[in-house]
Amino acid sequence: MTFHVMIVPTLNCPSNCKYCWGSDKKSKIMDIQVIREIDKWLDEFRDDHVHFTFHGGEPLLAGYDFYKEALSILKNSKTHKEAGFSLQSNLWLLDEKLSKLFFEYNVAISTSIDGPKEINDYQRGKGYFDRTMKGYKIAIENGVRVSFISTFTSYSKDFKDEIYNFFLENRYNFKLHAALPSLRGNNADKWALTSQEHGELLIGLLDSYLNDLDKIEIKDFDHICKSSFIRHGTLCTFADCMGDTLAIGWNGNIYPCYRFVGMDEYIMGNVYNHPSMEGLMKSEAWNELMEFKDHADESCRECDYIKFCRGGCPYNGIVSSKYRGKINSSISVDPQCEAYEMIFKEVSDRANKEFLNSSLGMFPGKKQGSNKKFTIMDLMLKRL
Ligand code: SF4
Ligand code: SF4
Repeated sequence: MTFHVMIVPTLNCPSNCKYCWGSDKKSKIMDIQVIREIDKWLDEFRDDHVHFTFHGGEPLLAGYDFYKEALSILKNSKTHKEAGFSLQSNLWLLDEKLSKLFFEYNVAISTSIDGPKEINDYQRGKGYFDRTMKGYKIAIENGVRVSFISTFTSYSKDFKDEIYNFFLENRYNFKLHAALPSLRGNNADKWALTSQEHGELLIGLLDSYLNDLDKIEIKDFDHICKSSFIRHGTLCTFADCMGDTLAIGWNGNIYPCYRFVGMDEYIMGNVYNHPSMEGLMKSEAWNELMEFKDHADESCRECDYIKFCRGGCPYNGIVSSKYRGKINSSISVDPQCEAYEMIFKEVSDRANKEFLNSSLGMFPGKKQGSNKKFTIMDLMLKRL
């Protein structure tokens, strides 16, 4: 995995999405000095390339001057090299000046839209869709790359075809995100997908996607098929993310990933102290991640997909172990296990069938009466 540093300039966010658990209206905003410290810390920390993602809350609350300086510092570092920049934002605060800056630094933006306006605004609040699409337009007009993240909930899963068609008709590339419970309260619970619902959603959307590979990209399927082909996870959820992903909060605190930012018990260190990896590994948070990894190695041992699933996301596993009064219960693998098994099995069954057909001299897909234009093998061989 590329070494991934997530910078969370604030947990504050102006929107009020109903299932969000990651924002904190009282959160402060990162001072540029923290970026200078990140830069100095990374010089001694690792010598491979770093991909930086600005995440939130809403990272654009940090403002133009912050990004102008931060991008320059991180790009021009003498010792470590940046492998790229990303930013995840609702784009409400994006203007032409920021867009030009992001274009200059080739920042790839992801923004969240949950499908057509009515579905999106029901989940994310009235006015969200128009404000985000306005920012999207400004970004595109200035040459910035933007893709979408669509969160599927217990409500929107029933509109999966409408949502898929919205992205297809507009030729918007997107990633799927399942609404899931969190460590920080229970407001997401009623929106969360069960593992079975999540698995069914993935299989249904994969089937649609196989008609449209020449029109849109759904990154999750590209990664799932590639991982299954090379037998190694290419998405953080399906790889051992521990240590290859770290997140920095507004005051320089270091956490295992953005999902833990703001939770004192998951602080691994602070960039002002320039900790080594060995230093971070002495934290309680690291111990908990290792407990997850050891548990996945043991409990998923017999699973056909262990090499490219790795027990799923440690955060989700920790949520399910600790959640609501179950503190001190033993660690679990990602409770979306059933969904992962379902989609990996679907991919592997389809690939085997295609392989058999082609070895019998039959062109995969069409000659079998399938109306799919593309195959799983097309996805497996696609460049990520
Ligand atoms: S904790 Fe989960 S979301 Fe965070 S980097 Fe690891 S796999 Fe990804
Ligand atoms: S699919 Fe389930 S059992 Fe298999 S590796 Fe993933 S979490 Fe473990």
